[in-house]
Amino acid sequence: MLKKDGHTHTKWSHHGSNQSLEEYIERAIALGFDEYTVSEHAPLPLDFLKNSIGPIDDSAMHWEELNDYQAEVTRLKKKYAAKINIKQGFEIDYIADYEPQIRAFLRDNSDWIDEIVLSVHFMKNRAGQLYGIDYSPELLAEGFKLELANPQELFQRYYATLAQSVEFITGLPQNINIRIGHMTLIRKYQKYFDLPDFDHKIYSTIRDILEMLHNRHYQLDFNAAGISKPYNGEPYPSLDIAKAAHEMGITLVYGSDAHQVQDVGQHFDIIQQAMQSFDKIVHDEQA
Ligand SMILES: [Zn+2]
Ligand SMILES: [Zn+2]
Repeated sequence: MLKKDGHTHTKWSHHGSNQSLEEYIERAIALGFDEYTVSEHAPLPLDFLKNSIGPIDDSAMHWEELNDYQAEVTRLKKKYAAKINIKQGFEIDYIADYEPQIRAFLRDNSDWIDEIVLSVHFMKNRAGQLYGIDYSPELLAEGFKLELANPQELFQRYYATLAQSVEFITGLPQNINIRIGHMTLIRKYQKYFDLPDFDHKIYSTIRDILEMLHNRHYQLDFNAAGISKPYNGEPYPSLDIAKAAHEMGITLVYGSDAHQVQDVGQHFDIIQQAMQSFDKIVHDEQA
């Protein structure tokens, strides 16, 4: 099995760690990874930055950093070609109402892109205001007070937005790999808010989305970052959904979502074990 870390960040996400991309890649090589996707947050649409409510998470690269980012990833892809296969990527934010700007960015950069992690970090509340869902429990509570009183509505909103993002991303060149990022991110603060399990309607929406991914040959980010998040404690997506996706024939790709060098490859063993257990179950059923 190819050992790949398909979701990683850099100093351009401004999270305090100023470590060089070279250090991340050296770490991945030391851990025995064959393939490594650099997927920094693409710059956010300018109008969105101007209009948005609440604190904007400064985790996306700034527009004036785009050239430096691409030049550095390109340089290291060549430099380390004999040791590790580096994929040039972005984590793309799907933001409702800003589709034209996001589409323009993708069009302008499609020659450079090998892979995209497509993520929903912002969604509209009942009043139609866009709020971040993974910035802090406080901001989620502020933006989605009414929805949190009925968590299935919060989930429904999230999966409706995720389905829109999948519809949105079509039309890119065939050679670009598309992966849906952390598809249960709405549960990031599940222990903080004591969120219930998804009800059967949400599960059936999730199945519909998985069908969409399968039909379009999109992949699924099997994201380990939630495992060590205090209010989450499981991978994104959770194991039952990951198993359903795997059985449908969707390719799951491990992602550390590393924002610092020491997180590269985090919990790879847990994700690998889960993958092996899915295969084992399929095998046993056939036997
Ligand atoms: Zn993300
Ligand atoms: Zn990420």
